[in-house]
Amino acid sequence: MTRATDDGFGSLAVSPAQRSNLERLGYLSMTPIQAASLPAVLAGKDVIAKAKTGSGKTAAFGIGLLERINPRSLATQALVLCPTRELADQVTGELRRLARAVPNCKLLSLVGGKPFGPQKGSLAHGAHVVVGTPGRVLDHLQKGNLKLDGLRMLVLDEADRMLAMGFADAMDAIIAETPKKRQTLLFSATYPDAIAAISRKIQKAPVSATVEAVH
Ligand code: ADP
Ligand code: MG
Repeated sequence: MTRATDDGFGSLAVSPAQRSNLERLGYLSMTPIQAASLPAVLAGKDVIAKAKTGSGKTAAFGIGLLERINPRSLATQALVLCPTRELADQVTGELRRLARAVPNCKLLSLVGGKPFGPQKGSLAHGAHVVVGTPGRVLDHLQKGNLKLDGLRMLVLDEADRMLAMGFADAMDAIIAETPKKRQTLLFSATYPDAIAAISRKIQKAPVSATVEAVH
């Protein structure tokens, strides 16, 4: 169960449309990880965030990410990498709810185990936000279906699990195709040494947001 804080979303630099959307969703106050990370995410800073499962990490990056999407540009502006198809589906669902506040924002899920053709077709129409698993995203990149030269925000969600599942090389290959000047958000439930190492490699002056489990 998500624990809320006393902090409403009112203190944040989010659009009035998102404010009322959050109200409709019943998100009345920020969870601790949202309170700790959203101001930095909205300010365009790199963030490394650690909090347990179920703590509201998707909205912690999602609200910030969607606020900074320009629906008038067709480029893929944000890419969210997730370790599994199920997690990518969950993130896509949550981002779709949050994206109701951003008219004409197109979200696309690129996960393995689904046919390639329709994903390619959707990419041809343009997607502002792509959520996917590293293997399938890399596949589309290498086939030229997905272009990341207009990317401004990269999110590694459940980065610890992605590394544990052996996606380090695929992640590296994807990151190599993104512009150097970008916002990089690293979300994780745990903080193994490998996460510190990848943060040093791909982030610039990251703001740390950590919410320890309460026992
Ligand atoms: P995590 O990624 O940390 O595991 P999720 O982003 O999946 O957590 O969020 C867990 C649940 O909490 C979701 O059902 C989400 O809709 C809900 N949630 C997120 N933020 C809030 C909030 N501020 N107020 C109420 N519920 C929230
Ligand atoms: Mg999550």
